[in-house]
Amino acid sequence: MDDKTLSCDVLIVGGGPAGLSVASTLPDDVKTVIVHQDQEIGLPIRTSGACWLQDVERLGIPQDMCKRMASTEVFSDNEQATLDLGEVVPVILDTPRLYKWLAQQSDHKDRQLLLGTKFLTTRARTDGRYASTIRSRDRTEMQVISTYIVDGSGWHFSVLDALGLVAKPERLAVGTEYEYPLGQNPPDRVIAFAGKKVPAGYGWAFPTAQGSVRIGVGVLQPDTDQSPRKLLDAVVQDKPYLARLGLDLSGTPVVHGGILPSVAYGERLVFGNVIRVGDCANFATPTIGEGIRVCIELGRLLGEELGQAVRTGQRKPLKRYERICRRKLARDYKWGFLVNRRAARYKPANWNAAVRRMRQVGPEALVATFRGEFPLIKIMQISRNLIWLLIRARWRRLRAALGRG
Ligand SMILES: Cc1cc2nc3c(=O)[nH]c(=O)nc-3n(C[C@H](O)[C@H](O)[C@H](O)COP(=O)(O)OP(=O)(O)OC[C@H]3O[C@@H](n4cnc5c(N)ncnc54)[C@H](O)[C@@H]3O)c2cc1C
Repeated sequence: MDDKTLSCDVLIVGGGPAGLSVASTLPDDVKTVIVHQDQEIGLPIRTSGACWLQDVERLGIPQDMCKRMASTEVFSDNEQATLDLGEVVPVILDTPRLYKWLAQQSDHKDRQLLLGTKFLTTRARTDGRYASTIRSRDRTEMQVISTYIVDGSGWHFSVLDALGLVAKPERLAVGTEYEYPLGQNPPDRVIAFAGKKVPAGYGWAFPTAQGSVRIGVGVLQPDTDQSPRKLLDAVVQDKPYLARLGLDLSGTPVVHGGILPSVAYGERLVFGNVIRVGDCANFATPTIGEGIRVCIELGRLLGEELGQAVRTGQRKPLKRYERICRRKLARDYKWGFLVNRRAARYKPANWNAAVRRMRQVGPEALVATFRGEFPLIKIMQISRNLIWLLIRARWRRLRAALGRG
């Protein structure tokens, strides 16, 4: 083996939360290489980092890596609601710190983390192993020979695409965020806005753990051909609109941007010795595109199962990973994707009605919808609530009509 060739059990493509979580639970002696095209873990920022305190606790994430939110508000063009989320606490994760912490979880293992290094392509060799070509920033190319490859490259689908296993997603959630000094904004208020300003998408704003405030807009393409950056510019230049949202933005913002697949959940995750995880396995919730907690949980699961596969040479552990993910996500994400498709077609009047409904449904149904969790009992609760609201609205209209008559 020359100095331009590396050999390992597992090649992980992508050092985002999914790939890093896989590495964190692989057995210490499994030889692993992670290639990550960015120069630093967690930067540039390509995500908002909204999550829930219960998940931060469950996943053992240090609590100083998140900021708790005390109030959640939603705005449409004509309506506004302060949401009652019950006991559930939304938080904003400090993602650069969190991702670095995730990377540290495998520092002591037999793993090599190659930063500023891009996976280019791969081919299956006759001995069943893969020969992958990677390139560093100085344009040096190297080969990585591995038994397994984990595709954790997010929306790029780098490995799946190179091997022609799964086509790159055609429908994408594309987001842009501006980060300003916190100024007069409350340090614990998160808002979402939808309507005329954001066709086929929604906007958000929240304070960060670093004493700043971020405002962003995300749209579904090709449902709309609008650029999120232009829409965001229109929002931040509209002073009366910002005043209505209760936002104080001043100074030159730092710009962040990110992309997320927005397609139906694909149940197949294992293709022989190539396995997908994270965004390239559509792990983010189809309702609000929240993926970090899911990537960490299921990435860790993959690390454990892959460790077994490396040890025993059996396929069973990988099939178990696929099955557990299917059980956890497939049904919920089918419902969630229906909500996603429907909301993408919402007109401003639909958003007004949606915000009115949010004021009336209970915390359980709200949180379930945001988290993309739709067990049968919650679906029944949500439908019962909606039917009741519908009857009340019809009754009010009838009474008004009779009154006019
Ligand atoms: C605008 C926006 C806002 C979001 N907000 C939230 C939120 O509030 N809360 C939440 O939970 N989730 C949010 N998400 C979703 C969340 O960010 C993703 O679900 C999560 O980051 C997916 O993790 P991942 O590791 O699968 O992929 P990524 O985070 O995309 O990481 C993959 C990494 O692989 C690298 N890579 C790609 N191709 C190659 C290659 N060929 N070679 C080497 N490296 C490569 C990329 O540079 C990237 O850093 C948001 C997403 C977007 C786009």
